[in-house]
Amino acid sequence: NRRILLNSRPVGAPVDANFRIDEAPIPQAAAGQVLLRTLYLSLDPYMRGRMSDGPSYAAPVGIGETMVGGTVAKVEASQHPDYQAGDLVLSFSGWQDYAISDGTGLIKLAPDMAQPSMALGVLGMPGFTAYMGLLDIGQPKAGDTVVVAAASGAVGALVGQIARLKGCRVVGIAGGSEKCRYVVEELGFDACIDHRSPDLPAALAAACPNGIDVYFESVGGAVFDAVLPLLNTGARVPLCGMISHYNDTELPAGPDRLGLLTRTLLVKRIKMQGFIIFDDYGHRYNEFFTQMSAWLKEGKIKFREDIVDGLENAPQAFMGLLEGRNFGKLLVRVANS
Ligand code: NDP
Repeated sequence: NRRILLNSRPVGAPVDANFRIDEAPIPQAAAGQVLLRTLYLSLDPYMRGRMSDGPSYAAPVGIGETMVGGTVAKVEASQHPDYQAGDLVLSFSGWQDYAISDGTGLIKLAPDMAQPSMALGVLGMPGFTAYMGLLDIGQPKAGDTVVVAAASGAVGALVGQIARLKGCRVVGIAGGSEKCRYVVEELGFDACIDHRSPDLPAALAAACPNGIDVYFESVGGAVFDAVLPLLNTGARVPLCGMISHYNDTELPAGPDRLGLLTRTLLVKRIKMQGFIIFDDYGHRYNEFFTQMSAWLKEGKIKFREDIVDGLENAPQAFMGLLEGRNFGKLLVRVANS
């Protein structure tokens, strides 16, 4: 059983030395337990937070402990009355080949699920985040202009498509021309702006002639700076993430824009609200799942997975996620079956 452990805490961007691979015999299920074999491991930006020990909404991973993460796993052996060998489950077994579970937190997946990895993306945590953040906090109305950061990614791609279904004008922001082309041509956004281009503020302003009514924030930094002056009176800003700051070791250099931010929020009566998806909306998961399943069946939602083969490649893939090297929902295929 290979496990990837947190070896040391990163200072700034994570590096190889922050991870360590450990090998041990495959564990055995005791009475009341199942042995799970990981098929897919989800890699998500929140894992950067778990590698640090600063105050946050969740406890950090300890040094020498297995990196945490959502997985799709197969029940390899069962001593638990509710599970049989061969069952597919959604689990939180982390960066490892095998895990032992007493069933707590496991969710059975339909045995005929065509693409079980969807449970970690479009039908799982990222999809749920897009749905709740946009609809409950963003409150989009037909005709609104909705701007979506990290628009080609797991969450952003879905935010924009849902906003289109609600009749909004949707402008994405993504890194590079290939991602921007995909966002417009495949996902059907009205426009997409490359955040690496030096004239981001002017390009965004040109794409939003009527200002911005909803900004789905996942990035922060220069992207938020370009958005702020374009926000309309009464705009809503679901604050989902700020990935451009996750590797920061100190506050960014000035000028201090806090006064500008608070003045804009006040004068324009803007609602900016953070949320942590399962803490705030766990009770509404079924509503999301039913609606998203229907949209998928009707062909109204597209999604893209970026699959990396081999558990040993998880650290490099994760480092790439924090630099935009992924293109779509990032997953590691740990085993084929
Ligand atoms: P993505 O699939 O969108 O991958 C991350 C993307 O972020 C990269 O591909 C890159 O896209 C972009 N990015 C990375 N670094 C930077 C940077 N320095 N500046 C600008 N863009 C950058 O990830 P997810 O969809 O899984 O997550 C998106 C956001 O949602 C994250 O902030 C995450 O923390 C947050 N989130 C919050 C949840 C909550 O409960 N609040 C739950 C789930 C996710 P590009 O190449 O286009 O720049």
